[in-house]
Amino acid sequence: MRQTLSFIPTLRETPADAEVKSHQLLLRAGFIRQNTSGIYSFLPLGKRVLHKVEKIIREEMEAINSVEVFMPALQQAELWQETGRWYSYGDELMRLKDRNDREFALGATHEEIITSLLRDEIKSYKKLPLTLYQIQSKFRDEKRPRFGLLRGREFLMKDAYSFHATPESLDKTYDDMMQAYSNIFRRLGLNFRAVIADSGAIGGKDNHEFMVLSEIGEDTIAYSDNSPYAANIEMAAVQMDYPKSDEQARQVEKVSTPDQKTIAQVAEFLETTPENCIKTLVFKADDELIVVLSRGDHEVNDVKVKHISGAKLIDMATPEDVRELLSCDIGSIGPVNLPAGVRVFADNAVKSIVNGVTGANEDGVHFKNVTPDEDFTVEAYGDLRFVTEGDPSPDGNGTIQFAKGIEVGHIFKLGTTYSEPMKATFLNDQGKAMPYIMGCYGIGVSRIVAAVAEQFQDDSGFTWPTAVAPYEIHVVPVNVKDDVQRETGEEIYEQLKAQGFEVLLDDRKERAGVKFADADLIGLPLRITVGKRAAEGILEVKIRETNETVEWHKDEVQDKVREFFKK
Ligand code: ATP
Ligand code: MG
Repeated sequence: MRQTLSFIPTLRETPADAEVKSHQLLLRAGFIRQNTSGIYSFLPLGKRVLHKVEKIIREEMEAINSVEVFMPALQQAELWQETGRWYSYGDELMRLKDRNDREFALGATHEEIITSLLRDEIKSYKKLPLTLYQIQSKFRDEKRPRFGLLRGREFLMKDAYSFHATPESLDKTYDDMMQAYSNIFRRLGLNFRAVIADSGAIGGKDNHEFMVLSEIGEDTIAYSDNSPYAANIEMAAVQMDYPKSDEQARQVEKVSTPDQKTIAQVAEFLETTPENCIKTLVFKADDELIVVLSRGDHEVNDVKVKHISGAKLIDMATPEDVRELLSCDIGSIGPVNLPAGVRVFADNAVKSIVNGVTGANEDGVHFKNVTPDEDFTVEAYGDLRFVTEGDPSPDGNGTIQFAKGIEVGHIFKLGTTYSEPMKATFLNDQGKAMPYIMGCYGIGVSRIVAAVAEQFQDDSGFTWPTAVAPYEIHVVPVNVKDDVQRETGEEIYEQLKAQGFEVLLDDRKERAGVKFADADLIGLPLRITVGKRAAEGILEVKIRETNETVEWHKDEVQDKVREFFKK
């Protein structure tokens, strides 16, 4: 492609509103443009990267017999109502109405659509298993769209769904997907790790996220320093025994704690430690207010609270809710003398506290000498807190460390979460109607472009790996007004294209400095500069990954290029 005929609007300045390197460079090098918050256009170079990512994904999907389809983005509300997600998905679901006032959603995901598609078509176990995938735009009204393509409101996803007659068949496809995903991320050159994950709003049990390790990652991975254990921090289990003091439980004592609101303030004021305080939180579990307790130095994990309470949706209660329930400020709440019927869940660590400190449900007042199961009752103890660095790894090997990750893929076993409510059944070999057993497998295609962009760059621009580079070779005649330079450039461009290479020719009448800066910014793997020494047949070649430069003779270009790309 000739640069004069393409559309590559590079920028000299770093756009002020782009926070992370990948976003800045994708804008500066002319790969993408923002339309409005979280919504982007892919310009020619960006589209080519996207296309290559898609190609790798398609190849690996087909290799495990996952077959491509394309489903509608515009989805009738009735389907989402069948599974209840019309109500539970929340504000992330983009909703709209047609001219007849009928409600629709813009697809945030496609479980409902695909399940409704298959329930009318696949009636016998003989037609299972079946795995279908698509690459399509998804719409999610994210609370905080940010970091460019990393968290968009309209973004491209590869989503696959598998349908099975037996759990064993699902296990097999899940393992195949695990392998296919590993192949995809390896081929993209990404530094990734598969971690145990929570299934969020989707439901289901076994699931893994694929995380690209990166400082800008929004997820925290908890991994063992001495075993393959790795989990999203939301899911990382805490398995340990908390030593219980042999102190005798004393009589509860009321103490005034004016203006002491945080655990740290209260602990200091009462000359104790945060470990000896019982932190009390109120959550809204679906429509019920529940009380959750942890040790003062621990953080409560809402995903674990959701699991123990059995709620579909979990959220912190508002200060108004708390006041209505307990007649006091959040800083003074506690589990003693709660109104009847309020369910209390506590982290395992709380059970070991003897004579602890907690709020008295009265502004500016706390209790001392509070002992669980003596002074208040707990419906259930469980693992309800976030792991911290230094905790023992739950597999018994090593201690937990943290790393930041960008989630690029997510695979999970859904079981019959969708097929049951949607009455999507097949006849098994006994002639009995059974709900399909399902799996679902997502990859953030446009997010991958940003993740690769984040990893492959240096101070002057991108350093694309060949697998996803928009073109392989940049041919740069320095001065196109010079006949020899222009003609040599054209000749090399045509020859390499004829050999099947993807070549970008900088045929612009720009200053050398501008051309070199743009070439570095765009970052194609190989740059062939046709300059003053073209008359002698000498060309300067730069390998972008290492910034190493070498000289090649014009006549050896084809061989050398083939050798470089191992073609
Ligand atoms: P996140 O925790 O980042 O919001 P998610 O759990 O909502 O992700 P899934 O529903 O599992 O994501 O979607 C599958 C994949 O789609 C994710 O692994 C991610 O790579 C990608 N993805 C999800 N949300 C976005 C978004 N807003 N912008 C770009 N890609 C996204
Ligand atoms: Mg999300």
